[in-house]
Amino acid sequence: MDHSLKSPPVTALDDTFHAMIEASRGTSPPDLAARQDSLRRLRGMLADNERRLEQAISADFGHRCAFETTIAETLFLQTELKHTLKMLPRWMAPRRIATSLQFFPARNRLIPQPLGVVGIIAPWNYPLQLTLAPAIGAIAAGNRVLIKPSELTPHFSALLRELIAAAFDPIELSVTGIEDGVAQAFAALPFDHLVFTGSTRVGRIVAEAAGRNLTPVTLELGGKSPTIVDVSADIDEAAERIAYAKLLNAGQTCIAPDYVFVPEARRDAFAGRLHGHMLRMFGTNPANGDYTSIISDRHYQRLEGLLRDAIARGAKPLSVTSPEDPAWKKLRKFPPTVVVGATAEMAIMQEEIFGPLLPVLTYRDAHEVIRFINAHDRPLALYWFGKDETARENVLARTLSGGVTINDCLLHFAQMNQPMGGVGASGIGHYHGEWGFDSFSKLKPVFYRSPFNRMKDLYPPYGASIAWIEKLLRFLS
Ligand code: NAD
Repeated sequence: MDHSLKSPPVTALDDTFHAMIEASRGTSPPDLAARQDSLRRLRGMLADNERRLEQAISADFGHRCAFETTIAETLFLQTELKHTLKMLPRWMAPRRIATSLQFFPARNRLIPQPLGVVGIIAPWNYPLQLTLAPAIGAIAAGNRVLIKPSELTPHFSALLRELIAAAFDPIELSVTGIEDGVAQAFAALPFDHLVFTGSTRVGRIVAEAAGRNLTPVTLELGGKSPTIVDVSADIDEAAERIAYAKLLNAGQTCIAPDYVFVPEARRDAFAGRLHGHMLRMFGTNPANGDYTSIISDRHYQRLEGLLRDAIARGAKPLSVTSPEDPAWKKLRKFPPTVVVGATAEMAIMQEEIFGPLLPVLTYRDAHEVIRFINAHDRPLALYWFGKDETARENVLARTLSGGVTINDCLLHFAQMNQPMGGVGASGIGHYHGEWGFDSFSKLKPVFYRSPFNRMKDLYPPYGASIAWIEKLLRFLS
């Protein structure tokens, strides 16, 4: 495109990107001290502005429970920063790799090097965590980082931009605007790596745009995460843990349990307990500050539509009130709702719910559940509740998902030493901790030849001795 046809925000994006590329190609990569300094600045920025960030996110949601922002965003990032700062010297060190016998004597090393400039496209649901957690990994790996936050979080996006601009050189770490056209222009830039967190639908568009530049991608996508309550499970315990995980951030969590399979005979008992726990946790008052609002009217209406369709097709809702109740609707608080008697044909079972609606389905035989899961896209998360180890191992072996928590939900995500990432339609690649460091590095293999190496024996002309050398090589291979 002709530069003059671009909007000012897209021109500014281009300029920052090209300045970053130039700096990454023209200067030495940051050493350990420089990376630690950047990470500490990020830590200081977060600590000094925790309250402002929390308020900006709450303004974007209408209401976001402050403690949810603390545990799922700021505290999460502070833990990731602490872990990264502690482990960085070890991660950056060249890794010793064994040398195959036939190349002896020699040395092999795997040297982690920054890729250059990493782009991050983030969604709105945990806007702070999902912009900065990948940035921590990318900065630790020595990259320059450009972040594009979501247009659905304008207060947060403007504040993050301001805070990052105050603490970082724009060619080190920058946040773009969220004006029309920026997202598409961003995905079209020839980054050295692009991290996209968002829906599977937009993930496909971003992967296509990145593919044109051969830009490698980490795609952190969504989907429907199944939850299985085995016959051996404690129904009440499972219901309480599922209720909590489903209602955190009012269900607007990529790894929230999307639907639950329970044994047919225990459906009503389970649904009753689930509803009871939801009531106990969040009560009947929509103004309850512990309960988060739905991000926009459009998203609220989409959830209303899913519930309406389920009811029209015979499902029974269990909730304190209807989402049309004006007291709830005006605050965009969607009443937590258990959808009893959900079936596969309902719209609620065809798309990621991403809200506080929890369909309960039944089964007679665990194979049915496995067949159902395997007939759909690979989920981002899977949850299993029960005590029967054989049944548990069977589900683990026969299903494939981004991650699994047994006898609870969400917790695999919070493990600093475990990779985060989907599989198939739920994503490509991993990050968090060392997994992020490695994803945003080129692990460059280097072979150090020794002066005593006998490679010369392989050079032509091939005389009679070559037959012996061939025998020796076959023996050593
Ligand atoms: P979304 O896909 O609508 O938007 C995500 C980002 O993509 C936004 O910044 C948006 O501006 C940008 N975008 C939109 N169109 C684009 C285009 N054509 N080119 C480039 N960028 C474009 O997702 P959302 O509604 O913000 O977030 C909800 C989704 O994200 C859910 O599906 C959820 O499961 C998923 N999610 C996944 C994870 C994970 O870690 N796997 C975490 C959080 C959310």
